Amino acid sequence: MSDDAVLQEEISDNKNRNEVRCVFCNSLMLREKQGEYVEETFELPLVHQKHAKDIKTIETEKHHHFWLVYDMFHFENIGFSNTVDTIKYLICADCDMGPVGYHDIENKKCYIALKRVRHGNAPPDVAAIKSV
Ligand SMILES: [Zn+2]
Repeated sequence: MSDDAVLQEEISDNKNRNEVRCVFCNSLMLREKQGEYVEETFELPLVHQKHAKDIKTIETEKHHHFWLVYDMFHFENIGFSNTVDTIKYLICADCDMGPVGYHDIENKKCYIALKRVRHGNAPPDVAAIKSV
């Protein structure tokens, strides 16, 4: 099963079916149905701990699948990292790992990359098993 097929399993009614959690410490970021699924292309720096490196000089990778959150108050927990131009990078509020997505300062929307977060409570192995 491709990664994208796994992602499709998480989408219900164009919203996040499960809770969105930090892949490192399992901190709850977003409750179910609070994010809207959108496809767009955005380059995020590779995962690192806040302040570990200058975010402008580290490598990036492209992401194509995001949970769009219209209001940052819809998050249970979220942290902010560096501001670069008109965006702020979003990180785990508990362990500072990220970025898991970004916040657009101009339109106030937040985008969480599906591949940077864990969905639901299940460990990754269980979550990846297709419904039986
Ligand atoms: Zn965390």
